[in-house]
Amino acid sequence: LRGVVAVDGPSGTGKSTTARGLALRLDARYLDTGAMYRAVTLAVLRSGLPLDVAATTADGSDDVAAVALGARVSVSTDPAEPRVRLDGEDVAAEIRGSAVTGAVSAVSALTAVRNHLVAEQRRIVAEALDDGAGIVVEGRDIGTVVLPDAGLKVFLTASALVRAGRRTAEDSAAGRSDAPDAQTDLARRDRLDSSRAASPLRPAEDAVEVDTSTLDIEGVLARLQQLAED
Ligand code: C5P
Repeated sequence: LRGVVAVDGPSGTGKSTTARGLALRLDARYLDTGAMYRAVTLAVLRSGLPLDVAATTADGSDDVAAVALGARVSVSTDPAEPRVRLDGEDVAAEIRGSAVTGAVSAVSALTAVRNHLVAEQRRIVAEALDDGAGIVVEGRDIGTVVLPDAGLKVFLTASALVRAGRRTAEDSAAGRSDAPDAQTDLARRDRLDSSRAASPLRPAEDAVEVDTSTLDIEGVLARLQQLAED
């Protein structure tokens, strides 16, 4: 792969597994933008700033944005080893925990945070392309905002029941016994991610929608690979 494949969609659609698997198959790089939103959210949680204040007052959101923008987040784009660091510390496991998952939508709704991370994402992609590599980028707004010129845009969907089932399986595999009820939490995050003013979750007009409800990972990967090679 030489160019950019954008993979967007809500969580529980198999987005991360397929985007990363596709990058491996296409010998491309891989960027998980959700991990970047999660890492800055972890920085905000560690700062002790109250997130409910951020959501409701301008000063509160300025404070949260300042911490998020000051966080040193670095990600690797190697699909075989997608590392995420916050101030040099490996936070890959912690950013998947329930505290970050519960707070990430509030932090990612802030325009200042989005502008900052979008610029960083574009820089990472430009660097990969400069190196002559292709890159698979996954998120919520890749095809609509971050990389509207991507050569291929995929929007993954799945039924609410299937998505919740996948999330529950993921939580139990990772030993997250304090995870919130999957269906309730996915519905909450969908509502927040789709209704926010800044880059709400929606498919790009030229995105190919792939319903993964009745496909396993192999099936989704085969479909995406076929689209990427067309
Ligand atoms: O993909 P993942 O579930 O890790 O993303 C976590 C959260 O980060 C999403 O619920 C969304 O609020 C935010 N996000 C975003 N834009 C992206 C990627 C993630 O707003 N491109």
